[in-house]
Amino acid sequence: MRVIFVGPPGAGKGTQAARLLERLGTPHISTGDMFRAAVKAGTPLGQEAERYMKLGQLVPDAVTIGLVRERIAQPDCAGGFLLDGFPRTTPQAEALEAALQADGVAIDAVAVLDVPDDLIVERITGRRTDPETGRIYHLRFDPPPADVAGRVVQRKDDTEEACRTRLALYHEQTAPLVPFYGDSGRMKRVDGVGTPDEVTARLLATLGL
Ligand code: AMP
Repeated sequence: MRVIFVGPPGAGKGTQAARLLERLGTPHISTGDMFRAAVKAGTPLGQEAERYMKLGQLVPDAVTIGLVRERIAQPDCAGGFLLDGFPRTTPQAEALEAALQADGVAIDAVAVLDVPDDLIVERITGRRTDPETGRIYHLRFDPPPADVAGRVVQRKDDTEEACRTRLALYHEQTAPLVPFYGDSGRMKRVDGVGTPDEVTARLLATLGL
């Protein structure tokens, strides 16, 4: 199955993707995670991406599209994939459609996680990651245990200022993907407000998994 997760930053795309992987049995492709890995490794791609990421801006389409094209051409994606954080612009969606069409395949479902802006800001600014395990916590909603609390870190783009930039970009550039996919009947809107378990249950039901 080829699935796309669309939603504002902090909608729970990464959290829900990790929960659905077992059912889907496909690779999880997060462009944000790929860029963060490239930044950490100090590759030329990472150096370019970091300039945009730390400001909460989008990495240019040409760079992002090339990265995803290469990734979905890998053998482990032959049976499907879960794309999280891509496409984020109409040119990215068009490039993805063209690449898949050339391979004679198509996206089966686009899950749109709806979360209101005020809740997004609260979720993002409280988000912290344990650098040792990669586990994501929230200072209020899911606080780290005492032995982990001392080492959690905040993503550079999770400050309130960068968060507001990312939200504005979402409304301006990513929200138009909803009509883009909506016309083809593959789009499923899912309420992203609630506990992670509640949202997972809604996603499983909506995707028929
Ligand atoms: P995420 O982890 O999905 O919130 O992505 C973190 C950051 O990586 C974004 O704010 C962008 O700077 C960059 N990024 C991730 N995916 C994309 C994309 N599809 N297009 C452009 N930039 C992206």
